[in-house]
Amino acid sequence: MDFRFSDDQLSIQSIARDFAQKRIAPVAADFDKSGEFPLENIRQMGQLGLMGIEVPVEYGGAGMDSIAYVLAMIEIAAADCAHSTIMSVNNTLYCNGLLKFGSEEQKRKYVTPIASGEAIGAFALTEPQSGSDATAMRCRAVRQGDGSFVINGKKSWITSGPVAKYVLLFAMSDPDKHARGITAFMIDTARAGFHCGKTEPKLGIRASATCEIEFEDYHVPAEDVIGSEGHGFKIAMGVLDAGRIGIASQAVGLSRAAYQATLTYAHDRKAFGQSIGSFQMIQQKIADMKCKLDAAELLTLRAAWTKQQGGRFSTEAAVAKLSASEAAMWITHQAVQVHGGMGYSKEMPLERYFRDAKITEIYEGTSEIQRLVIARNETGLR
Ligand SMILES: Cc1cc2nc3c(=O)[nH]c(=O)nc-3n(C[C@H](O)[C@H](O)[C@H](O)COP(=O)(O)OP(=O)(O)OC[C@H]3O[C@@H](n4cnc5c(N)ncnc54)[C@H](O)[C@@H]3O)c2cc1C
Repeated sequence: MDFRFSDDQLSIQSIARDFAQKRIAPVAADFDKSGEFPLENIRQMGQLGLMGIEVPVEYGGAGMDSIAYVLAMIEIAAADCAHSTIMSVNNTLYCNGLLKFGSEEQKRKYVTPIASGEAIGAFALTEPQSGSDATAMRCRAVRQGDGSFVINGKKSWITSGPVAKYVLLFAMSDPDKHARGITAFMIDTARAGFHCGKTEPKLGIRASATCEIEFEDYHVPAEDVIGSEGHGFKIAMGVLDAGRIGIASQAVGLSRAAYQATLTYAHDRKAFGQSIGSFQMIQQKIADMKCKLDAAELLTLRAAWTKQQGGRFSTEAAVAKLSASEAAMWITHQAVQVHGGMGYSKEMPLERYFRDAKITEIYEGTSEIQRLVIARNETGLR
């Protein structure tokens, strides 16, 4: 693994940092309070190439690599986790999925507007009764004589659901075949039969709109099947491996923001006539925060680097996601503690970091599921 970043990687990192600090950080608390979707910021991020970083230029993206994606995600998440959630779904779950499994025509039609930030993409796997066990899905796709499908059912917890133009949907086309009966489809939300259901009231990442989506006799033409019939589960799992690198990056960005705020506060805040940072118990927290932050960042970069080599990276992605999300939860918890009463106040961003950190242990596979993936890959046992 090469520890030096290329000029391209440093350039997208600097673009993301500049936008994050000037345009996102000053409004992050307001968006958290209102729960409003930051549409204008997301459009501008698209124009800067941040909504399709790994998408080739001919499909509207920035044409960069996975390490560039990690570096940019860290910068956006350090300013606001909700913006980085929207960015990660767009980049990895939606664009990367279509790039890997879509036909040439599908890529031109469905990746270009989303990677360029003109419109927003979503990924719909979870249902009210099926999350970790995605094969228990009930959303049904019934094949018609002409090769088209009719979809009926509901998906829940869909990030960007209320604003997405296109959705990469997974539905059961052959229930007898379980995982091998799942097919992936491209959904145009403007077509008849698509509805947004209830919006989810959330603990954190409040500005990333999340809702249920419903299908009522929704027609998908044969050309909008992604990959082939019955290959949907494989596509979803492949896409989630890449997605986990994005969530790990998000956790690193959030941890970095909490850590830096803690360093400043430990210098400035005085108690018993000295900076609280001079107390050994605070120093211990700072040393442990630093170790966990650096380990999370290196594991995330290793996962991106492994992905770039072209082989399997499922274990590395799960190790990065598990380590970085648990580090984020621990670091933001300690950061609140070091800030004392101000850590608990909405006048400072610490309580928001703490609330936002929790999601990184839940979505795109909970910590329990990451441990299963790692242990199964390592032992070969099911
Ligand atoms: C804010 C937010 C945004 C989301 N965005 C999206 C999105 O855009 N698209 C999408 O498709 N989904 C999305 N999700 C759904 C998310 O991926 C699921 O919530 C997650 O995978 C967990 O599924 P679940 O909520 O059904 O929990 P469950 O699967 O019911 O799990 C409940 C608990 O049981 C544990 N558990 C389950 N199975 C096992 C096992 N085999 N061994 C040990 N423990 C186990 C879990 O780890 C967890 O602690 C989002 C969720 C949230 C909260």
